[in-house]
Amino acid sequence: EGLSFMELDNMLTSLRVYYNNEGNKPKKRRSALWSLLVVIIIAIVVTIGVVQGIGYYEKSGGSVQEHLNSASENWAKNIFTVTCHNIRDYTQDKHRRVDDTPYSERQGMLMQCEPIYNCYKSVTAGKAKPHVIYMSPQGKTLTQKRAKELSQLDSIFILCGHYEGVDSRVIDEIVDEEISVGDYVLTGGELPALVLVDCVVRMLDGTLSQADCYEDESHYNGLLEYPQYTRPEVWHDREVPKVLLSGNHAEIAKWRREEAVKATYLKRPELLERSPLTEKDLAIIHKLEEKEDKK
Ligand code: SAH
Repeated sequence: EGLSFMELDNMLTSLRVYYNNEGNKPKKRRSALWSLLVVIIIAIVVTIGVVQGIGYYEKSGGSVQEHLNSASENWAKNIFTVTCHNIRDYTQDKHRRVDDTPYSERQGMLMQCEPIYNCYKSVTAGKAKPHVIYMSPQGKTLTQKRAKELSQLDSIFILCGHYEGVDSRVIDEIVDEEISVGDYVLTGGELPALVLVDCVVRMLDGTLSQADCYEDESHYNGLLEYPQYTRPEVWHDREVPKVLLSGNHAEIAKWRREEAVKATYLKRPELLERSPLTEKDLAIIHKLEEKEDKK
């Protein structure tokens, strides 16, 4: 459990550096041991506010909160807010327990409804209902398309499970959507939540310097990205494709499209079934198929 918070902290720090390419120096981080000792469970609530100009991050008591917030401070240029809530702060149990054994007689522990529900109620009190996502290996796998759609929402509440998961009744009661980060099982929903946050946030206006940065990227238009090159022009006898040095924009655009189709055909052919292809794209694919047949 502690480990996942170290990971979380590292990731938050690297996201912060990534989004603040102006180069804010990361703050001194607390020791790993400290984080190992502290935290057990949290739910991450992400409030993505496209409320320009009043970006801030909420600081409220509790060591987990402080820890995560110190790492997430100045995250992205005042475009969104992330607030973490420790579900243990919402239990009535005097030992701050939030889990119990499953009725199915399975081994392991399950998170109980009430603390999660209390947390949800408290966080959303007096506010418009957020879109509630439960990070779960049973959800639909996250896609670029879904991330783009989610980036249009004003606020998202992300519930992270732990242990064996969460009592189904609270999922039925508050969750709008389950999202998975892939067909494998992790210890908790925190890392998946960060994956989701990162993916959604970089789609927000103003996060990346130009929409260009993501519009040509893999998965945005159903294709993988074409290969990229930077200086020097020759490295280990490998040359940058001539067309890229030509300055001919039309030719470069044509080259990019061809290479994107090629990369997708060679690496993830199943994606082509769902991507909108032009006659020219199909001709490229046809050529590649012929080449393979000859082999
Ligand atoms: N027993 C559950 C798995 C629990 S894993 C099952 O078989 O479905 C514990 C928690 O980790 C989950 O509640 C979920 O929040 C998170 N988690 C694990 N794997 C995940 C994945 N692939 N995507 C998103 N969240 C995941």
